[in-house]
Amino acid sequence: MDFKLTENQTALQAAAREYAQGRLPPIAQEIEETGEPPSHALIAEFASHGFLGVNIPESLGGLGLGNLEALLVLEEFGKVSSAVAFPVFESCVGPVRAIERFAPGDLKSRVVSRVCSGELIVAIAMSEPAAGSALTDLTTRAEVRGEQIVLNGTKRWCSGGGHADAYVVYCRMSDEPGAKGIGAVYVPKETAGLSFGKREALMGFRGIPSSDLYFDNCAVPIGNMIVPAGGFKRLMEAFDLERCGNATMALAQASGALEDVVRYVQERRQFGKPIVEFQAVQIRLAEMQIRIEAARLLIWRAACNAEAGLPSLLDSSVAKCYANEIAREVTGHAVQLMGGYGYSREYPMERRLRDSWGWGIAGGAIDIQKVNIAAALVGRRFDQRGRS
Ligand SMILES: Cc1cc2nc3c(=O)[nH]c(=O)nc-3n(C[C@H](O)[C@H](O)[C@H](O)COP(=O)(O)OP(=O)(O)OC[C@H]3O[C@@H](n4cnc5c(N)ncnc54)[C@H](O)[C@@H]3O)c2cc1C
Repeated sequence: MDFKLTENQTALQAAAREYAQGRLPPIAQEIEETGEPPSHALIAEFASHGFLGVNIPESLGGLGLGNLEALLVLEEFGKVSSAVAFPVFESCVGPVRAIERFAPGDLKSRVVSRVCSGELIVAIAMSEPAAGSALTDLTTRAEVRGEQIVLNGTKRWCSGGGHADAYVVYCRMSDEPGAKGIGAVYVPKETAGLSFGKREALMGFRGIPSSDLYFDNCAVPIGNMIVPAGGFKRLMEAFDLERCGNATMALAQASGALEDVVRYVQERRQFGKPIVEFQAVQIRLAEMQIRIEAARLLIWRAACNAEAGLPSLLDSSVAKCYANEIAREVTGHAVQLMGGYGYSREYPMERRLRDSWGWGIAGGAIDIQKVNIAAALVGRRFDQRGRS
């Protein structure tokens, strides 16, 4: 067991940090004010620096590095803001991974390299009005009719909804109940029969537009099938990596907050001295650092244990759950330590607190992760519906 990053990993992390800190803070502030996501030009610039598709094979346009390398880059971007980091998230751990792993060759080659080059944004549409935590209750139907798949139904809370160029849509593809009937289909934005609801006004996640998706006899070619009915388990395995990305985004809110606040408490003077001289402030900083280090180690463990494939459900759930919880706590402390400046929208601190809250709901609520963890402990899934 070696807790040190390799020279190459350290160099990649430093390059991501230098670019993110040098280029992105004013853009993040503008995104926060306008609510508009990063432009295609900026995303293409990320690609030209090699920050997209870090862990996607070179043959598909990525850098061909590991999950840990991707998460190192993601944390550095996420420290600046969730919105500027979101294209990195999508290209390294997002729904494109399900396409990369499971889609037929033609679809894979059409989509994955264009995500890595920044030309294409692909979002994930799983949740529905009546299927959130109980995802296997989803009712959006995808029916194979000859050479076409026809979708009908409504999706909710899709990050990128209305903005992304295409969607990985989880849908019911057979009459089998629950998970057994679920598969996934790739649907380009311009497909007839797909329309979008109004942009949601969320507590945070400014610059990550979110909306409903409406499918009304929306037909795509049969080659757009990513997995047929019965593929839900495989989709969820790919989702274990997304969980590590979600955990890293949460971690980045906390670690970015601590970096800023460590500077602030040494500059801000009260009672004639820098506030870092007060022991209560020192203890708070130490508690923040302990939580951040622990979250980072859990995430890195999940990524390293998955060297040969995807992280395990247990590792990724433990990492997500812990990072989600400490991010809310640490960013809350950071707001407090900056006093009125922490609460002001002129500074990035209160935004980190709002975004942290979202990461603990997106990708499966914290308590659902805990149910997964308990299930792994006792070696069986708990039936959330019937009596146990
Ligand atoms: C910022 C953000 C981004 C999102 N992005 C996407 C996206 O890109 N694509 C997408 O498909 N979805 C997305 N979602 C939706 C997200 O996946 C769901 O909100 C989440 O799974 C919870 O579902 P729900 O909102 O319906 O809450 P519910 O399922 O109604 O749950 C509400 C609360 O009830 C409790 N609860 C429910 N069931 C249980 C249980 N069995 N055991 C213990 N507690 C339970 C939990 O505390 C939970 O937080 C996003 C959500 C947010 C907030």
